[in-house]
Amino acid sequence: MKIETIAIHAGNHVDATSKAVIQPIVLSSTFERGTDGTYPGGHIYSRISNPNRTLLENVLAKLEGGVDAASFSSGNAAGMAVFQSLLPGTHIIAPDDMYHGLRNQLKNLFAGILTFDFIDVNDTNVLQKHIRPETGLIWIETPSNPLLKITDVKKVVAIAKTKGIKVACDNTFATPICQQPLALGADLVMHSCTKYFGGHSDLIGGALITNDKSDWWLKIRKVQELGGAIPSPMDCYMLTRSIKTLPYRMRGHVNNAQLLAAFLESHSKVEKVMYPGLLSHPQHQIAKEQMMNFGGMLSFCLADGPDEARRVINKLKIFTQATSLGGVESLIEHRASVEGPDTKTPFNLLRVSVGLEHIDDLIEDLEQAFAK
Ligand code: PLP
Repeated sequence: MKIETIAIHAGNHVDATSKAVIQPIVLSSTFERGTDGTYPGGHIYSRISNPNRTLLENVLAKLEGGVDAASFSSGNAAGMAVFQSLLPGTHIIAPDDMYHGLRNQLKNLFAGILTFDFIDVNDTNVLQKHIRPETGLIWIETPSNPLLKITDVKKVVAIAKTKGIKVACDNTFATPICQQPLALGADLVMHSCTKYFGGHSDLIGGALITNDKSDWWLKIRKVQELGGAIPSPMDCYMLTRSIKTLPYRMRGHVNNAQLLAAFLESHSKVEKVMYPGLLSHPQHQIAKEQMMNFGGMLSFCLADGPDEARRVINKLKIFTQATSLGGVESLIEHRASVEGPDTKTPFNLLRVSVGLEHIDDLIEDLEQAFAK
């Protein structure tokens, strides 16, 4: 089946009793046992599983080409389940520009339990130098947030495999419509479902997808079952509903982002544009090889510095100044000021989540904001 068909059908089925074409939302926290003490409906208690969550996990696994998925109450909860599944003392290698929320999670909540290095994972020498006997996980994020750096997934996987190290990939920026890390050899894919899967800036969610129901995966599932970082049935329903249009929404995001990147690159007010679809992107070739499309996120730096970035952002009318990404509406954000003191993000950088408005309106809005 093609991805458009999977997106529509793998998260839904006709309800057996009512014949409702769309799966009902099952709010029940608990499920009736049979006279023999078994669970004929297949569910015990909604912290463990729920019909809406099962459907969501089915479509998520199929979209990423995995064998199983677990959906969480947020992207950070999904990341946390991965870190909690590792034995104390395990060493993690993560990118130096890892999504700041997960970097902060490691630094604030796992210091003393796990050890970690934040490095340029794309530099083979640096990567190999940081691998230790106790390294258990290499975390990658590609394209990265907010510098849109590309990690060569196959290259990292090849190094990790020789040492028996697992590779997890945050695929939030790309979505499976643009990139499928499991097919490139990664062991685990992580998503903030808050972004493109949700697509309408109205829910928080996360997911992990595996290509192997290994002992590690079962441990991650146990972490969730016992920890309880689960999404509500309503959010699962909203996600399966939104995912049906994901392939078509992504086409719109990608088209608009490509056009906006070209416009920005040719503008005298702009010093630099970071978008993997541009020939000027230093890792454009890797992106071309491992991505089907270049995504809907871009960042750009203002030639006249941080004050100009602030001025421009406040003059925009269609772009909303807010954090997050992946919704139908365009968002713009001054990233350095939200990332905290250890940010590596330039202060003249603005990150854009390119929405589905007409591209002419987006360009016109930026033109008027650039004009003094
Ligand atoms: N990974 C990336 C790349 C993100 O951008 C985010 C959120 O912005 C997360 C993970 C965390 O997701 P959530 O906010 O759903 O916890």
